[in-house]
Amino acid sequence: MNEIPEKMTDNALTDKIFSTVEGMRDEIVENFMGMLRIPALSPANGGEGEGKKAEYLMRLLKEIGVDEIKLYDAPDTVPRPNIIAIKHGKDRTRRLWVMTHTDVVPPGEASLWETDPFEPVVKNGKVYARGAEDNGQELMASLYGLKALNKLRIIPAMDIVLAFVADEETGSEKGIKFLLGKGIFKKDDLIIVPDAGNPDGTELEVAEKSILWLKIITKGKQCHASTPGRGINAFAAGMRFGVLTLEEIKKEFDAENRIFKPPASTFEPTKKEANVPNVNTIPGEDVFYLDCRILPEYDMEEVMKSVRGVADRVERETGARIGIEPVQMERAAPPTPGDAEVVQLLGSAVNQVYGIKPKPVGIGGGTCAAIVRRAGFNAVVWGKLDDMAHSPNEYAVVENLIGDTKVYALLYFGAPMTTTGAGGTKNLIISR
Ligand SMILES: [Zn+2]
Repeated sequence: MNEIPEKMTDNALTDKIFSTVEGMRDEIVENFMGMLRIPALSPANGGEGEGKKAEYLMRLLKEIGVDEIKLYDAPDTVPRPNIIAIKHGKDRTRRLWVMTHTDVVPPGEASLWETDPFEPVVKNGKVYARGAEDNGQELMASLYGLKALNKLRIIPAMDIVLAFVADEETGSEKGIKFLLGKGIFKKDDLIIVPDAGNPDGTELEVAEKSILWLKIITKGKQCHASTPGRGINAFAAGMRFGVLTLEEIKKEFDAENRIFKPPASTFEPTKKEANVPNVNTIPGEDVFYLDCRILPEYDMEEVMKSVRGVADRVERETGARIGIEPVQMERAAPPTPGDAEVVQLLGSAVNQVYGIKPKPVGIGGGTCAAIVRRAGFNAVVWGKLDDMAHSPNEYAVVENLIGDTKVYALLYFGAPMTTTGAGGTKNLIISR
């Protein structure tokens, strides 16, 4: 029963899957908008959790027809449900996960919104609402990809697991981390976390850089600006340290890994704290910050050591004292290889739907896939997205919603492997 009609060729079947998705277009958009009407903010963002949205999704899952639904409620002051819905496949020993999150961030500055963030509006082929792209589009697409197969009475190639998780926007303690603690993942599971992407859908994110934020506190001696010899200018010493650091650290840690955009580590001075309020005082203290995104090939301790070395020199030259405090130090998760099965399968399905050749890429960090990778699993991040996450007037492009639904439907069916133009992640350390 429920087998693929024998005489159908692959192409004919692909067309059938695509036209089935097209036939559900209005229904998909309608339920997408229905879901977006339910805010789902975490208590840390002043909300009442994901309970109501989870109820909405449970209803949809029951309509679609899955084989198992498991609810994992993380303990909290408000409901924090995580939904795991499983559709059995032909091969019951293997599982393909699509993990999306139900929570959204607050709308932010209300006056920047042209429409009500929780009353979705369709305008020029886009659905405007908070949560439309982050992460509603992919959630709905992953769900309707399964409905398309069910309508055609096609059994997926392997078990399909739709995970609608809570709490992605405020740390994932009640979501992905909670689920990892339940031991429900298996070593060879194929995991897609479609929570980031680019407008043409060509990026399959498989790796992240380590994140190192440094607070630089320079201490000198305050005095009148007309008599600099009586003090030590902390601002001048801090600037000297900053310039030297940028020059030398960039040279020392100059390896490039071509899967990353940009390919080299980055070291950027960012925030600057105010020092003295008036022009005619030499500051006795000066504080600024460095944001460093470091290739996973490097050890962050090594970077810290080199930065300290520059500070020691500037201290000797100027007489100022330079303190270096790591504000954030997050080691990159182990990259998922570009030739991992989940990356290749997804790339192949994306290629078939959109006629593009997606490539594995690394980013400056970080997505919630890192949590999954750190726990020892391969995970790929993808989505055909205009990158509207957290912006005012967030929208999702309806064509992307429908196209990505086709991608998931093909994936569940078991998209035949084609060339994706995918390269590995191990290649290409280039030192100048
Ligand atoms: Zn997100």
